[in-house]
Amino acid sequence: MYYLDLIEIKRLTRDLLPRTRDNQVDDRLRGWNWFDSPIRPYSSELLLPVWDIACSICPTRRDAWLRHKVLKKSIPTTVYQAKGFIVHKLISSMFLKAKKLVYLGYEDLRDELIRNADEILKKEIEGMKRNVELNDRDVQDLTEFCKQIAKWQATRIESKVLEVKAKYPFLNEESLVQLSFPMATEVVVDGSLLGLSKYLRADAAWMLGGMIFDIKLGRKEEWHRIQVAGYALAFESVFERPVDIGCTVYVSKTGNSIRIDRDFYIIGDYLRSSFLEKRDELQMMLLKDSEPDVADNCPKYCVFRSYCFG
Ligand code: SF4
Repeated sequence: MYYLDLIEIKRLTRDLLPRTRDNQVDDRLRGWNWFDSPIRPYSSELLLPVWDIACSICPTRRDAWLRHKVLKKSIPTTVYQAKGFIVHKLISSMFLKAKKLVYLGYEDLRDELIRNADEILKKEIEGMKRNVELNDRDVQDLTEFCKQIAKWQATRIESKVLEVKAKYPFLNEESLVQLSFPMATEVVVDGSLLGLSKYLRADAAWMLGGMIFDIKLGRKEEWHRIQVAGYALAFESVFERPVDIGCTVYVSKTGNSIRIDRDFYIIGDYLRSSFLEKRDELQMMLLKDSEPDVADNCPKYCVFRSYCFG
């Protein structure tokens, strides 16, 4: 998911990174200015997850209100989103397992990773079923899709480790992990300075800083980039280092195989302002304590229909 190809590296080094140096982000929109407007949150008491702020599935944001005021738990708004949560978990668990195996001196990672992915998948599906109704068809489709992802991901990881080993046969486990996995996965950051959750978890971040990855299923939507801007602001508020590049990794199914499409972009002023606007709007709405209207045009796949339409 996070290993870049030659063209992507060229685009980053010859286009995106030079552009971030030439057109610097407005300093007022850097996370490290969390104590000042417009970064300063409307409330420091109500801490919200980044995905809840950025995603716009319910037109009146009643889904967020139900999560925070009625259900008091982080339930996805759609089955599609639930599947996304499971895919995220699967991928990050595979990276974690791979690192553990390298530290333990395992040679054949691929088969072990695929076997382990099956266990993770079953566990995650069972966990999700406690909150969201997944029918047999959903489970079957998701299982097949995740098995394809696991096979592909395990092969990529094993080949990367072998490539590094072949180049540097004398490396110890620590160095082998560093060179084979130049990204940290499930990166936790405390977003409370920005009115965000204390346990924000970005899917992955480049080890040397400056770039955040987020995985999405299906087609591109504008809010996907806005979500990454939220993580970038939170990282900047804690680490005081610029995070200028975002990458949304789109995973989809095509025939019998999977398709991976990485969207790279600059986390510029517009994305930052859009995230902050959404954050302030949602905080104000939830603090006002008035119930948002039921939307006129609800997506038919919203899992909250039973709450909204009895
Ligand atoms: S059913 Fe409609 S109003 Fe209710 S949360 Fe879903 S999209 Fe919003």
